[in-house]
Parts: sequence; structure tokens; C-alpha cells
Amino acid sequence: MKKSYLFTPGPTPIPPEALLAMAQPIDYHRSEDAVALIKDVLEKLKHVFQTENNVLFLTSSGTGAMDGAVANLLCQGDKVLVVRSGKFGERWAEICEAYGVEIIPIDVKWGDSVAPEIVETQLTENPDVKAVFATLCETSTGALHDIKALARLTQSSPTLLVVDAVSALGADDLQMDNWGVDVVVSCSQKGLMTPPGLAFAALNERAWEATERSNLSKYYFDFRKAHQRGLEGSVPYTPAITLLTALQCALNHICTEGIRNTISRHNCIAIATRNAVKAIGLPLFASSPANTLTSIRLPEEIDGKAFVKMMREKHGITYAGGQGELSGKIVRIAHLGWMNESDVIVAISAFERGLAEVGYDISLGAGVAAAQEVFAKFSNQE
Ligand code: PMP
Repeated sequence: MKKSYLFTPGPTPIPPEALLAMAQPIDYHRSEDAVALIKDVLEKLKHVFQTENNVLFLTSSGTGAMDGAVANLLCQGDKVLVVRSGKFGERWAEICEAYGVEIIPIDVKWGDSVAPEIVETQLTENPDVKAVFATLCETSTGALHDIKALARLTQSSPTLLVVDAVSALGADDLQMDNWGVDVVVSCSQKGLMTPPGLAFAALNERAWEATERSNLSKYYFDFRKAHQRGLEGSVPYTPAITLLTALQCALNHICTEGIRNTISRHNCIAIATRNAVKAIGLPLFASSPANTLTSIRLPEEIDGKAFVKMMREKHGITYAGGQGELSGKIVRIAHLGWMNESDVIVAISAFERGLAEVGYDISLGAGVAAAQEVFAKFSNQE
């Protein structure tokens, strides 16, 4: 019997109530019930974004909110700093370039996280930059960036800090208000345990001021329109109402657990996964790994692409492989969203088994034991 397990950094598994909610008859998105649903979802999102600012939603994948952030905040010819430490930092740069925004790239070796001092130097040398674009967890490498330190640099200047938390929202800490982050974007199919199709953005007051000056072309992803209508429990265009019903269930889980506890749970299972990988004898790829996922560098003799394919086809276990220059070289195990200790045990024990099958010299159970030790330590602290 084949049973499937999903350990990718999006889409992520969906709680059963959310799946069942989507099986209910569809409703009219202008009904009173839909208005209540939209208002409730937008209120609960504030808790997850750790902000008092309103959150807006768009019907798109996460990239739609990234595109919208550039189009709504900037003007033609504006200069911005972009941290490029993987595929998704590169995406920020590509979007800016598509809109005619001048970028100053801060290139970081894949797997590393940006040193805030480098951003500080660039800000000092380029006092006219309008925004810094950064990524909380660079999903292509598993690296976590120190957004709190970057916010310290931008908070006292007119430069906006715009953060892609597409994968890490709800898994890695991002205190939008406390840290002074100006814009946070995310989406439904990762920490928010909902199928792909919804994107979110939260803007603080000075970011909203920037939207008033922005002269870049925009229509579908007009943040001011989405925000205004969202406050009324409405939307400018037909929303993915089915996904909103699922999102409400998923958000109920997070709000009941409490976002601080949600992040602690992710921290515990991330440490367990990292310790397990080390006990297996393999190196972590990211120098500063995120709670969202663990990237593992494979030995040269293991073909990462074939390994990922074999795990899925033979064992029903879906890990993510490497992207771009990391294709075939790393395996990414996500522990994100609807995940707990038992899921990590499944992910690690299957990983050990698969490694043994491709001829890696492994002491079976070493990784699982290391993970169990972490769980015991965390439960003693509770
Ligand atoms: N940014 C990050 C950090 C991501 O992980 C992803 C998706 N993997 C994206 C942006 C793009 O999101 P989407 O595929 O939903 O457009």
C-alpha cells in the first residue's frame, strides 16, 4: 500500500477541517456570510503577521504580492537595494527590473545569509535608495536572514524595508511592528496550510504613504484598491472564495495555538531535523538555517535528482530537490505548517532508509534518536 507524505516547502499538508471546508457548496462572494468570512480572515492574519496594520489579500500565488509590492511602492527610475542570496532574492531583482527600477544588488553566496554591515555600507553610500528588498527564509537554500537587524538600519531612515516572508511566515519569527518592518508579503500554501492561490501583503503607515507617490503601472494588483475593499469585507474582483474558507480553518489552528507557540513548535522540529541530519553524518547547506526547511548537502556520489525521484516513487515521500545551481546537489526537507514531531520522525526515518538504499554508509536510527533527544529536551522545558 502506498501512502504519500509531503515534505516540500510549499505546498504543505492541509488540516482535515480545511480540506472538508472546501468540499462545502460554494457561496456568493458578495453575500453577508462571505463579508464576515473575509473580515474574520483579515483580522486573524494580523495575528500571524504580528502587526496591528491591516493585511490585504490578492488572488494569486506569492509572486503576485511581490510584484504588487514593487508596483505599488516605487516610481520609475527609483533606486533600490536587493539582497540576492538565492532564487527568490533573484526574483525581487527581476521584478524590479521589469518595472524599470534601478537595482543595486547585494550578492550573497548561496547558503549564506546577508551580513547587515554590508547593507549598512550600501545604505550609507547610496542615501537615495527608496527600499531594501530582502527575504526572511531563502527557500532555495534554507537560509534565514536577520530581518530584525536590517529593520534597525532602515527604521530611522526614509528607506523602506520590504520582506518576502512567502515561505517563512508562521515558521520563522517576523515581528513586523516590534522590529519596524515596512512591508511583509506572503501566500497561502506554506505556513498557512492552505492550497496555493492566495497572496497577502501588510504595509505600515509609511509604506502606505509611498503607495500614494508611486507612479508605476498597476491594475489587478493595485494594493490601495484591495486594501480599501478588504476593510469592507469585500474585494475588487472575484476572490478564490473556496480557498478563503480553508484559510479560515487553518488560521483558527494558528490563533488557538498562538503565533509565538507556533513559531516555537517550528523551532523545535527544525532543530530536531538539523540534529538528525548531523547524526546521519551529512552537512547542512545553510550557514544560518531557517525553521522553515532544512537543506542538506549530499555526498558527490549521490545523484540528488534521482534520490528525490526514488523517494517519491518507491516510498511515497516527497522532499524537494535543489533549484538552479543546486540542482542534484541538495535535498530540502520542509517542516512547515501542519507538522509536528511525528512528521519529523517519518521524514528522517525515510531519509535514513533511502540513503542506505543508495549505498550511503549509515547507522540506521542515528538520525531518529537525535531527533527524539531534541523532542525530550523541548518537552522538559514546557
Ligand atoms: N519567495 C519565496 C521565499 C518562496 O519560497 C516562494 C515559493 N517557493 C516564492 C517567493 C514564490 O511564491 P509562489 O510560487 O507562490 O509565487
